[in-house]
Amino acid sequence: MPSVMLRFYEELNDFLPTGKRRRDFALACRPESSVKSVIEDLGVPHTEVDLLLVNGRSVGFDERLQDGDRVSVYPRFESFDIGPTSKVRPEPLRQTRFALDVHLGKLARLLRMFGFDSSYRAPLEDGELVRQALKEQRIVLSRDRGLLKRRAVTHGYLVRSEIPRVQAVEIIGRFDLSRRISLFSRCMSCNAPLQNVEKSVVRTMLPAFVSDNHEQFSRCPGCAKLYWQGTHWEHMKRLADDVIEAASGSGA
Ligand SMILES: [Zn+2]
Repeated sequence: MPSVMLRFYEELNDFLPTGKRRRDFALACRPESSVKSVIEDLGVPHTEVDLLLVNGRSVGFDERLQDGDRVSVYPRFESFDIGPTSKVRPEPLRQTRFALDVHLGKLARLLRMFGFDSSYRAPLEDGELVRQALKEQRIVLSRDRGLLKRRAVTHGYLVRSEIPRVQAVEIIGRFDLSRRISLFSRCMSCNAPLQNVEKSVVRTMLPAFVSDNHEQFSRCPGCAKLYWQGTHWEHMKRLADDVIEAASGSGA
């Protein structure tokens, strides 16, 4: 069996058993194995990888490994643009849009609250989620490595935390979104962008205490839900401020 030398850099080591972290190690692999299958057999989803070097040369995921090859595997670089160098990734998605798996409903609502286009539907079969993400150029968010290992997933991210507000901090940091937050610009229930609406238009639909105390309203063109800056809004605003502070504090 061919033997190759591997090394993973930075946070990709989180996926490896302790003995393989931050060091060169040898691995026997089947003849003609692709780089993708070798790194994923080690537990690293290909969606986490931004640059692959084999013997110092940038290659794609389908590169077949030969005996004695040296493979270096890098995550997304925070500090410089590797666009012209990397062969693994198609063109970056211009707008950051997400498709969340069935277990991330609370995160979907938070991301929508921050104004990020986040599709979420439950129940939804994984294959259908991936097809929709591809068609609409969405980044798949999941806590399921198996889902992200699917070859059809070109843009994906494995959500680390189990706590929705920590997940939101993670996503805003990972995709560098803090400057693009637009609070309460999107319906938390159905993801449609909200529209401002005159009070006179919606007055008859409002409870008296709301009508008496608020002047600004927005309405969801998708599900007709009305939004105003009430106590729930203030609670969510505080949460948003906390998340923004945490995201900027993490240096991400
Ligand atoms: Zn809606």
